[in-house]
Amino acid sequence: MKLMAMVILAGLAAGQVWAADGNKGGKEIVTAYIWGEENVPFDVRSRALQTASDVFAEIGVSVKWRHKRPAEGQAQREGAVAICIAGKTGGSSQQTLAAARPYEGSAITIFYGAMGWASQQPQLARMVFAHVLVHEITHNLQQVSQHSRTGMMKERWTKEDFAAMQWKPLSFEPADVELIHKGLARRAEQVAANNTALVSSTTR
Ligand SMILES: [Zn+2]
Repeated sequence: MKLMAMVILAGLAAGQVWAADGNKGGKEIVTAYIWGEENVPFDVRSRALQTASDVFAEIGVSVKWRHKRPAEGQAQREGAVAICIAGKTGGSSQQTLAAARPYEGSAITIFYGAMGWASQQPQLARMVFAHVLVHEITHNLQQVSQHSRTGMMKERWTKEDFAAMQWKPLSFEPADVELIHKGLARRAEQVAANNTALVSSTTR
């Protein structure tokens, strides 16, 4: 009971409402800061964000997009995801679509420039961008560095995967979904602990 109250308090403090118990049909809410959006054509990014939201909604996770760069440390404190969209390609490899740092829990960089090959086909560009968003946010939420054999969390999508995703988003494997929910629960606890520390340090 005490823990639940803490989790709710933490959610309110962070401007979010976490489902206190993910299994009661309630939705878990994730805040995602996103900036650098000017590097992606409007039509591509707006539909891609919608698709990404839909994919997460299917597994009971609601994404609240915040279109700005968070202050230093803010995303971490709030348990939010932070996504920077770079127009360039990803340094060492032209094919690197994104980089996530799962253990740091907050920063993702997406290299939209590396998706140039898709830019002549708007539907493909939208879906590739949506899949990269979902894939990287998932790494971030799971807080583990792992890939699956099929679908959304595959390490490298094939030509067939790119063709398929234009019609219907790729799926998560059941283990991916389980790791997301576990990661979200851990994240909520961390935010609660952070806020408790904050409250005790400000009331001292
Ligand atoms: Zn990956």
